[in-house]
Amino acid sequence: MINDRVEAATSAVREIREEILRRQRFLLTSHARPDGDSIGSQLAMAFALDALGKSVRIVNADPAPDHYQDFPGMERVEIASHVSADVDAVIVMECSDLSRAGVSGLEGEFLINIDHHAGNRLYGALNWHDESAAACGEMVFDVIRELGVPLTLEIATHVYLAILTDTGSFHHSNITPRTFDICRQTVEAGVNPAAMARRVFDSNSFGKLKLIGALLDSMELADEGRLAILYMDDTMLSACGCTHNDTEGLINLPLTAREIQAVIFFKVGPNGDVRVSMRSKYDVDVRAVAGRFGGGGHKNAAGFTVTEPLDVVRPRIIPLLVEEIAQGLKSRP
Ligand code: 5GP
Ligand code: MN
Repeated sequence: MINDRVEAATSAVREIREEILRRQRFLLTSHARPDGDSIGSQLAMAFALDALGKSVRIVNADPAPDHYQDFPGMERVEIASHVSADVDAVIVMECSDLSRAGVSGLEGEFLINIDHHAGNRLYGALNWHDESAAACGEMVFDVIRELGVPLTLEIATHVYLAILTDTGSFHHSNITPRTFDICRQTVEAGVNPAAMARRVFDSNSFGKLKLIGALLDSMELADEGRLAILYMDDTMLSACGCTHNDTEGLINLPLTAREIQAVIFFKVGPNGDVRVSMRSKYDVDVRAVAGRFGGGGHKNAAGFTVTEPLDVVRPRIIPLLVEEIAQGLKSRP
């Protein structure tokens, strides 16, 4: 089984290598509202393609949160919801479906799809889908090594960033020896893990600290304290002087309480649409719940968006989460 997976991965990486080497102009993209894995995967790939003398554009639907802005190469990221891509290939990273990019105009292009989310739709001309990767950055690392590009400090920084953030700072259940082997190589290339942790996790604004206070103050508990429910809207955000970009990572805070097994975070947008994020511990599968509402993600981190009002969706979601918590607790280590 493991050997099958390794063989599939090896042939996918080889094919990607061939197609990259025979093409010249690339456009890179990832999902809307980028996180550390989408940024790290794209920028690591961009620096690798630079090293091969390729021309590279990076186009994202939304800007990354502020604390990513001073990472190498971030000034290259173009923000657009549509592109007319005059390129030889588009590399889509971290998107289970092309629509997750939120950038139109890519549909007819030669697409190379590299992703680790469950349920990837295999929409590319080349598809490499490996759910066992702890971050898409792990897969990008393999492609870069296959291309024979040296692991520069810039590339190593972005690979480490991808892994550090997508494992929830080494908390999630999909971490393997390979995760640490890649991290070891990035540290050998000059990455400073302490500095990376400070840059990513200890870079809050005062406004964000206020928002943390407001969120935790209004946190509700359900399922005898096993489920935490967070709620946020634009009024709360602006009262703290924050924007949506300040909300990354907040969902993880309730999980620091021993009893809490899962968190659901409702973010109500200006038009009443509700963006739902979920996190969990161990075997509690929040992706299963996201899947019921047209979303996706991973076992311990998943999300979706609904257009119904909060008081309609909330009572539909909570019992499903309580059920997943009960299932997950059965196999608790
Ligand atoms: P977040 O809660 O940070 O927005 O997302 C957590 C995880 O779930 C990420 O891996 C993200 O890609 C995935 N995810 C979030 N929202 C959606 C969605 O609407 N559709 C799909 N397919 N995945 C999502
Ligand atoms: Mn990811």
